[in-house]
Amino acid sequence: NRIPIASPVRTAAIVNRYFVHAKKNLGQNFLVDLDAVQGIVRAAGIEPGDQVVEVGPGIGSLTEQLLLAGGKVAAYEVDHSLPEILANELPEKVDGQDLDQRFKLIMKDVLKADFATDLAGFFDLSKPVKVVANLPYYITTPIIFNLLESSLDFTSLTLMMQKEVAERLAAQPGSKVYGPLSIAVQTQMSVDLALEVGHASFMPQPKVDSAVVVLTPLEKPADVGDRKQFNRVVKLCFAQRRKTLANNMKTLLPDKEDREKLLADLDLGPRQRPEQLAISDFIRISQAIAEMNK
Ligand code: SAM
Repeated sequence: NRIPIASPVRTAAIVNRYFVHAKKNLGQNFLVDLDAVQGIVRAAGIEPGDQVVEVGPGIGSLTEQLLLAGGKVAAYEVDHSLPEILANELPEKVDGQDLDQRFKLIMKDVLKADFATDLAGFFDLSKPVKVVANLPYYITTPIIFNLLESSLDFTSLTLMMQKEVAERLAAQPGSKVYGPLSIAVQTQMSVDLALEVGHASFMPQPKVDSAVVVLTPLEKPADVGDRKQFNRVVKLCFAQRRKTLANNMKTLLPDKEDREKLLADLDLGPRQRPEQLAISDFIRISQAIAEMNK
């Protein structure tokens, strides 16, 4: 019956005891709202025995609830003042097991993660892995790209992010926020908005609104060929959103005739803007470019 870390009292006590302060440059906004944290755990559908990768455990507010829900948690963190706090403040025993059997802290930039190597030995990698995180917002997009391009099979990604980014993930063609992130995600995953979380649930309070999104692999992901190459092509097509597709494609195909031929072959008007194109159009563009470069 301990007071959860995800509470204003306990968080304030930890902050005072260890003289920690939330580091803005690391995107530290700690959750102090147990309902919100349990909402994330529920959205992720954590069950006893689940293997969970967490990004940025902070002082452990979400980690603690993941453990109590039965999860086995491996967490990536970069702030060197946190290992001591996590070791002292997370429960010593979880379901009768010592903490180190249930929790592994990986002090490493998650953008440099090599999941297969980092998790081997702690997780059974023949079994599914879920990702759950209250993300550091300054690197939300690269983290999502990295997870999508990684070779590990995740059964779901439950991620708290800035609400604007959540909207980008779900955006459809024609929308102002439709772009490379929407396309990279939607070729592979279904996108569900699980809950919105207000400023007051954090310490310190962020200036932006937050939302929790659950990404689940599609039964039939789109066949985009080489994923990194596809994402690169899409990013270049959107390099300057206000410009035409033909204009943006200069980097991909420096030769004007090549560009015009490719667009004509695909029945795409050169004056179209990238945000008007369906995901299937980008797949065709990427395939055609791969063909030309063979
Ligand atoms: N999970 C905690 C919570 O909900 O209260 C903290 C979330 S806080 C928004 C983001 C966390 O990500 C911080 O603890 C921060 O130090 C960590 N972080 C920042 N950059 C990181 C990186 N490149 N790799 C791993 N963790 C990072």
